[in-house]
Amino acid sequence: MKTILITGGAGYIGSHTAVELVAAGYQVVVVDNLSNADTTCLKGAEKITGRSLPFYEIDCCCKEDLQTVFKKHPIDGVIHFAAFKAVGESVEKPLMYYKNNLTSFLTVLEVLLENGGGNIVFSSSATVYGQPDILPATEDTPRGVATNPYGNTKQICEDILTDAVKAHPTLQGIILRYFNPIGAHPSALMGELPRGVPNNLVPFITQTAAGVRDVLQIFGSDYNTPDGTALRDYIDVNDLARAHVSALQKMYTKNDPGSCEIYNVGTGQPLSVLELVQKFCAVNNIKVKYKMAGRRQGDVEAVWANTSLANKHLQWKAEVPVEETLARAWAWEKKIRDL
Ligand code: UDP
Repeated sequence: MKTILITGGAGYIGSHTAVELVAAGYQVVVVDNLSNADTTCLKGAEKITGRSLPFYEIDCCCKEDLQTVFKKHPIDGVIHFAAFKAVGESVEKPLMYYKNNLTSFLTVLEVLLENGGGNIVFSSSATVYGQPDILPATEDTPRGVATNPYGNTKQICEDILTDAVKAHPTLQGIILRYFNPIGAHPSALMGELPRGVPNNLVPFITQTAAGVRDVLQIFGSDYNTPDGTALRDYIDVNDLARAHVSALQKMYTKNDPGSCEIYNVGTGQPLSVLELVQKFCAVNNIKVKYKMAGRRQGDVEAVWANTSLANKHLQWKAEVPVEETLARAWAWEKKIRDL
């Protein structure tokens, strides 16, 4: 049985991935410094899997701490999530973002190499495309110029992994470029737990529906899109978690050290902000107050994925209908608010 280290495994996507890995027969070891998470989702993952999951509250930037985890567990592979992820904050605190996101990834790679290498999945983002000229975005779509330090750390880490696998034949990598992950686990035991005012659309919608926020602002109604609001590709977090399992399975099956493949992880279906809000209201039979507002700085007009490569080579595809995802997002919000 393979043992997979999940860095940032207490977080939103990490905890869902832990559950899917256990379901697929992997042992998981979780490390997280809890800088942007508590143990709610980890406890949820334990309840869902019926397992106690080894957890270390450590910072991946600390090589010694990471070494102790590798000494205790026979790590065969890593899924690296541990990173800061708020675009606005990254503009205000660029050094903090570069230092944390790059150091943590470099340290994980160093320690993995010192322990004989292995397979690694890097958590990247569709933000690397910027506004593509041609849609949907394929993996060959040129990366755009990063418009904020967060996005730049994703590009740099992609480059680090690409170069590292070329130089170190004991490493094999897959880069997953996530589109817009949303939703929660069907059990409502895991979901997104944003701190403070949510930056992302769906947590803002669910908090507005719950009465925590007065009104949702729709950023931009004058885009060149059918209803004037921006288009995105919203991917269910459970589907996204399964993509990580598929990526690992691909690497263990193919066993091609020195390779680093890139896959888009989305649904391939664009939805506008307004459509998403309306679907949320319809499926949950609830009203969400919204108003049109100006465009948010740094936002692109439209981006969605061509997922053919992941469909074919990872034998993965998005399965959960967006209505179901939005029902789960609301069930999770109600659960954490005791509604
Ligand atoms: N958005 C919005 N109101 C909000 C949050 C987001 O209208 O309170 C819009 C945002 O401008 C973008 C889309 O929703 O067009 C998705 O934003 P999100 O921050 O969730 O993800 P992004 O695509 O920026 O990574």
